[in-house]
Amino acid sequence: MSYKPATFLPYSRQNIDDDDKQAVWDALGDDFLTTGPKVEEFEQALCEATGSQYAVACGNGSLALHLAVLTLDFQPGDAAIVPSLTFLATANAVRYCGADVIFGDVDPETGLMGVEDFEKALNEAQKKNLKVKAVLPVHLGGQCADVKAIHEIADAQNIAVIADGAHCLGAECYGENVGALPYTLMTTYSFHPVKTIATGEGGAIATNDKKLADKMRLLRSHAMEKRPNVGPWAYDMNDLGYNYRISDIQCALGLSQLKKVDDFIERRRELAGLYDSLLEPMAPEILTPKRAEYSNSAWHLYAPRFDFEALGITRAQLMEQLKERGIGTQVHYIPVHTQPYYKKLYGEIVLPGAEQYYSQILSLPLYPALSDDDVHYVVQTLKGILGK
Ligand SMILES: *Cc1c(COP(=O)(O)O)cnc(C)c1O
Repeated sequence: MSYKPATFLPYSRQNIDDDDKQAVWDALGDDFLTTGPKVEEFEQALCEATGSQYAVACGNGSLALHLAVLTLDFQPGDAAIVPSLTFLATANAVRYCGADVIFGDVDPETGLMGVEDFEKALNEAQKKNLKVKAVLPVHLGGQCADVKAIHEIADAQNIAVIADGAHCLGAECYGENVGALPYTLMTTYSFHPVKTIATGEGGAIATNDKKLADKMRLLRSHAMEKRPNVGPWAYDMNDLGYNYRISDIQCALGLSQLKKVDDFIERRRELAGLYDSLLEPMAPEILTPKRAEYSNSAWHLYAPRFDFEALGITRAQLMEQLKERGIGTQVHYIPVHTQPYYKKLYGEIVLPGAEQYYSQILSLPLYPALSDDDVHYVVQTLKGILGK
């Protein structure tokens, strides 16, 4: 094939147009660069995009997770269950609060923590004499974990379900917007440039609980409560808060990006369909991402599973050769329980589902500006390297 992309194809990237640039330019001329009206405007727009009643925007997706778990008031001896197949931030948020992480296993075909994995992790917690206060299912790649089934068990034991939705802005689960599900207390989002919309750095928590939203807004800004009856300068600090704010400049960009989010996701879904159709003949050495039937993915990632042994190539070799031909790939993710920090803390843990999923996946380029020709180029190049 003669088509060759003009530029390197990363595994993901932001989609910024002239309207976005204008929005940032205009925001720079506003009276407030931070703590101004754009933050609330962005939060309102996020409520619409996520279907939730309240949204709290903050500095990034990791901070969103921290703010969410902070509301649970963890005490020593408390724990939260986190699937091992996720980005570091999901587990770290729990550690910031001094609580322990119990790593859950995942389905080796989807990378999602299932209800049996959750129950196993609950047993682990019991063995360790830890009180589980929360479970943080991860909507990996934009596809939803079965939070309905998880919630049924969690709710009976007073365990909060907080979804890490960094990948799932615009995704649907059981026919509903992920951010509006009654099974999750909160869903956190990230607006890092590789995610569905970009604000540079940015994140948010969506919830239908006003008390939680109010609490997170306080914690986001040093828990300062105004005391106008004392004086116009006065404030009380009743809790230990942080500066986890997002700026008005970032929110202006976010507002502009949100106007296009439906188009972004539609294009991602088209591209995933195209990849599927081109890769299906390569089974069983390459398997297209397995779709959970209750979920309509937002396709943050397109990660087929490779049988590298049968293909006679290592993942590192394949990544290197694709890179030489202008194609970026990435691995999402290294199981967090295998990280040195967590090994030192909890010793050796075996989670076969996470380890198997990790050993097979590779994320191929996927972002709205990718053309159909680009996808054909990626698959042709892959076939060429693999001698197919
Ligand atoms: C990106 C990401 C985060 C963290 O978001 P940042 O905005 O980068 O801090 C958390 N969890 C998952 C699953 C992510 O992919």
